[in-house]
Amino acid sequence: MSVPAAKYKVADISLAAFGRREIELAENEMPGLMQTRAKYAQDQPLAGARKSRNAIFNTSKIKEALLTRNSIQTAVLIETLTSLGAEVTWSSCNIFSTQDHAAAAIAATGVPVFAWKGETEEEYNWCLEQQLISFRNGKGLNLILDDGGDLTALVHKKYPEMLNNCYGLSEETTTGVHHLYKMLKDGALRVPAINVNDSVTKSKFDNLYGCRESLLDGIKRATDVMVAGKTAVVAGYGDVGKGCADALRSFGARVIVTEIDPINALQAAVSGYQVTTMEEAAPQGQIFVTTTGCTDILTAKHFEAMKDDAIVCNIGHFDCEIDVAWLKANAVKTVSIKPQVDRFHMKSGRRIILLAEGRLVNLGCATGHSSFVMSCSFTNQTLAQILLYKSQDTAFTSKYPEFGKAAGKLEVGVYTLPKILDEEVARLHLSHLNVKLETLSPKQSEYLSISAEGPYKSDMYEM
Ligand code: NAD
Ligand code: SAH
Repeated sequence: MSVPAAKYKVADISLAAFGRREIELAENEMPGLMQTRAKYAQDQPLAGARKSRNAIFNTSKIKEALLTRNSIQTAVLIETLTSLGAEVTWSSCNIFSTQDHAAAAIAATGVPVFAWKGETEEEYNWCLEQQLISFRNGKGLNLILDDGGDLTALVHKKYPEMLNNCYGLSEETTTGVHHLYKMLKDGALRVPAINVNDSVTKSKFDNLYGCRESLLDGIKRATDVMVAGKTAVVAGYGDVGKGCADALRSFGARVIVTEIDPINALQAAVSGYQVTTMEEAAPQGQIFVTTTGCTDILTAKHFEAMKDDAIVCNIGHFDCEIDVAWLKANAVKTVSIKPQVDRFHMKSGRRIILLAEGRLVNLGCATGHSSFVMSCSFTNQTLAQILLYKSQDTAFTSKYPEFGKAAGKLEVGVYTLPKILDEEVARLHLSHLNVKLETLSPKQSEYLSISAEGPYKSDMYEM
């Protein structure tokens, strides 16, 4: 039976003009996306090969509309994809992270956007379903762009027939990529998947430098707390944890790190951080940030040991790092200071300040990463979508051989982008920062056995 799809659902379509002004401002800070548009638009590489096929994109950055985050930066991504020929629907990958003016601006252009800041869980699921409805009614989706894996999981579990004509999916974030590898191992993955997160120009920039700026933006907007002199505890010292610890230290906090991995723990120690268990850190900390992508990092025994008005927040993908349910069930009183800032009064008389209900603090309490770093991430996404859709198209790959390198490889599996495309993403962002590159001379090129055009590093190279 055919179900009519809503055209769009956003908080307030009259915010479109404001959204458009911010999109225009962001465009100049997103040189990778803008140059990618300029380079490939003439070939319309994402135009449906058949009219019956549409592209569906689930990203998480506009803070209001598709299956990714509906942020201004995601809006520039959406318009890059549409300028390359894609038909897109958009919902948010998080109930709090939509920017309503970004969602409105994109909905006003006719893109089906289903997202607003402050959705309930039910509404979140409704948005995902709406996004898929128009594709179920006759038009097959043929690409998925996901952040966190909720759309991927929904389509695989509930609408597997939609994958029949799907060229593949690309995934933005560490946690979503973990799920992809798990699906692959369990034999559940049905389409080729590109792990965008592990492009160097994604995880070593967005996760690190992005969080280094947006964590403090979230904490400050939420609490106005003075960070200097405080003791901050960062759980996890991966890419995100490194950025968070660095930011807190640069504001003058004493930072304690917790880790499970001896290599990351050693990295934190030689960077000058105290590394210990959460049990030992809990009574010392005044600001707690979870970055692990794991679960049960801050639980009852930690809350009971914390100082009065300890600030607790999470910047990892899902809201299972902090046991919010325990706080809700055991507080004698809860005061909502303002949206995304709740103060739990404990039996001991002490209070705990929880930000964004334990969801991503940089997106819930601020506007996420800046445009420039998201340009790096989303240029990877755009190239991944082109690769998924065009790598078997020999007319296209003979013109753009960088997309041919992976041709024939795209069986069901999880792939990272070829190094040459990762380097291309970096290259597109250099002139904006006045960077000048050295070029290998023929002698140097021969000496290193590296082409002057790259790739310059092996896939084994880790930053
Ligand atoms: P990562 O794997 O590089 O780092 C996570 C670290 O946490 C690892 O070093 C791991 O050993 C450690 N860890 C795991 N369990 C732990 C535990 N119980 N106690 C202490 N440490 C533990 O991953 P990442 O790229 O840093 O991403 C972390 C999370 O942040 C993911 O969920 C990712 O999706 C999310 N993320 C969020 C943003 C954002 O803007 N908010 C940006 C990028 C990534
Ligand atoms: N995107 C999810 C969060 C997923 S985890 C959300 O909206 O809640 C974090 C991911 O969000 C990161 O991998 C990062 O690439 C992405 N992100 C951070 N800031 C962003 C922004 N301003 N716009 C879009 N995505 C952003």
